[in-house]
Amino acid sequence: MPTDQTNAFEAMQARLRVASQLYGLDDALFKVFMAPSRSMIVSLPVLMDSGHWEVFTGYRVQHNIARGPAKGGIRYDMNVTLDEVKALAAWMTWKCAVVDVPFGGGKGGIVCDPAKLSLGEKERLTRRYIAEIMDIIGPDRDVPAPDMGTDAQTMAWVLDTYSMHVRQTENAVVTGKPLGLGGSLGRTEATGRGILITAREAMQRLGKPLAGATVAVQGFGNVGSQAARLLHEAGARIVAIGDIQGAVKNDRGLDIHALLKHVAEARTVVGFRGAEPMDPTALLTHPVDILVPAASENQITEANAAQVRAKVIVEGANGPTTPEADPILLEHGVLVVPDILANVGGVTVSYFEWVQNRQGFYWREREVNERLVDYMTHAFQATFATTDKYKTNPRIGAYILALDRVAQAMKYRGFYA
Ligand code: GLU
Repeated sequence: MPTDQTNAFEAMQARLRVASQLYGLDDALFKVFMAPSRSMIVSLPVLMDSGHWEVFTGYRVQHNIARGPAKGGIRYDMNVTLDEVKALAAWMTWKCAVVDVPFGGGKGGIVCDPAKLSLGEKERLTRRYIAEIMDIIGPDRDVPAPDMGTDAQTMAWVLDTYSMHVRQTENAVVTGKPLGLGGSLGRTEATGRGILITAREAMQRLGKPLAGATVAVQGFGNVGSQAARLLHEAGARIVAIGDIQGAVKNDRGLDIHALLKHVAEARTVVGFRGAEPMDPTALLTHPVDILVPAASENQITEANAAQVRAKVIVEGANGPTTPEADPILLEHGVLVVPDILANVGGVTVSYFEWVQNRQGFYWREREVNERLVDYMTHAFQATFATTDKYKTNPRIGAYILALDRVAQAMKYRGFYA
């Protein structure tokens, strides 16, 4: 069935349909998984610095909570829609199941341009949003985290607003918090570290070392920059990086630490002296061993998939590849480490953060990183074992692994009617 290529929720449903058929999923469960269990839409009046009031729209969606509290980030972006948040919430259900942490899937979003908000406006917007979704979140209900446009400071306001309402400090209500406020060591770089772990596993499957492999990274936000840095430190050669404003390349390898310094000031990779400018649309088709799309949805499509020259794609973003592009990549022999496996590092360390908050006992960074490697290599192996068992591709393999785990939980629980 053709999908609207730009609709992330339809893209999720298309893969779920294929995976469910191959797995032989019970029809009732299939219908349940095809829709989120709860969607909340809120209007958020915010006093702007200029003295006028603006009303923003916010969402919080819980896709499935069979395996535990809903878990998932909050996105601040002009392109946020209910369907996008529904897709992202469903992907969180599958991600938490793939990596086997005891959470369901949720996601939130506010339609806004975070770059245009002052710190005060962003704080008031965040607090009003949390006050509005107060009834459906909580350490045992639904635990938010950062996503595009939000960061540790935003999570600190989430913590404070929720805690003021319940009249006690509840740091397990949100993850991705600053250190010293219950945040976990290793959380900021966790998604990037997960990309490193899965990239290494994927290269191993191809019988090639990661050291010396060439890499292109699309996106230089938290995920892209940390992935680039860690891959660089592991000996890979990052030859091209792009962000919203443009892209740069250097065939001899970009000096990522110098690039990070440049971006800290210029807010973009554009203008970096240790590289030459390149057309950002050419980044995805650059001849490299590993391509890391770490920006937003629908980047690798029917239109450019055949031109992708990478041997491996490690999906740092959620939903970077459209369903129409999947068979094209397969036909060209590209090994795709799907988003619901490749980018689970963030939510896995969020789980570790939540556990530490509830224990009141904090781990060393080495312990966090070692456990992350353990969880993610298990998830990688389980995904590829499922892929082989069902003679399918890794994306559908990951969906089958996930839906099997969620389906088992739901079967034990039964339907409450
Ligand atoms: N927003 C991140 C993601 O898409 C992290 C979610 C979390 O840590 O709960 O995976």
